[in-house]
Amino acid sequence: MVTLLHQQNCRSCPALVASRRRIVHGYGDTASGIVFIGEAPGRHGADQTGIPFWGDRSGRMLRRILVQVGLASDETAGATLRCFITNVVRCCPPGNRTPTPAEVRACRTWLWMELDMIKPRLIIPVGRIALQEVGMRYLKHDPGAIRSVHATVLRSRHVTILPLIHPARISRADVQAFITAVQPLIDERNEP
Ligand code: SF4
Repeated sequence: MVTLLHQQNCRSCPALVASRRRIVHGYGDTASGIVFIGEAPGRHGADQTGIPFWGDRSGRMLRRILVQVGLASDETAGATLRCFITNVVRCCPPGNRTPTPAEVRACRTWLWMELDMIKPRLIIPVGRIALQEVGMRYLKHDPGAIRSVHATVLRSRHVTILPLIHPARISRADVQAFITAVQPLIDERNEP
């Protein structure tokens, strides 16, 4: 399991510096070509554990999905991942609020650095903020409401994008729709 960036003492967002326990960079399999991007470390999850989507309810739900589609070996902390998991912003906002546009802009350097190093072929933006970021970078437009494009394949020249409703708010039917849509994309990526 690899974390691409070392912990840095970034202090660009005063409100987040005051509220965070730690800076949480992405981790996982950098050679998989598959990247999940969430919004921010959760107060009861990554902000405590230092691992994106680990330690809270959202993390458990995402890990269950990863196991079902073969991108995680199991639901334990020591599982082998076949994907990389990161966030739009690396510090937990106060009260788990949505990051402001200024905070998203400030943290963009970190996210783009990870994506430039990994060069993913498949990106799963998790939730609205990640969808906006990924859409603006790869599609040059905002794809719109996450609910209207959930589990819908969006293609740019070099990257396939499959939006996922945030695990904190996802229904069983939405999980099933995502699994059905993502499986062929994973298999497609694995073809020689
Ligand atoms: S959210 Fe990103 S840019 Fe803002 S302080 Fe944390 S690491 Fe720095």
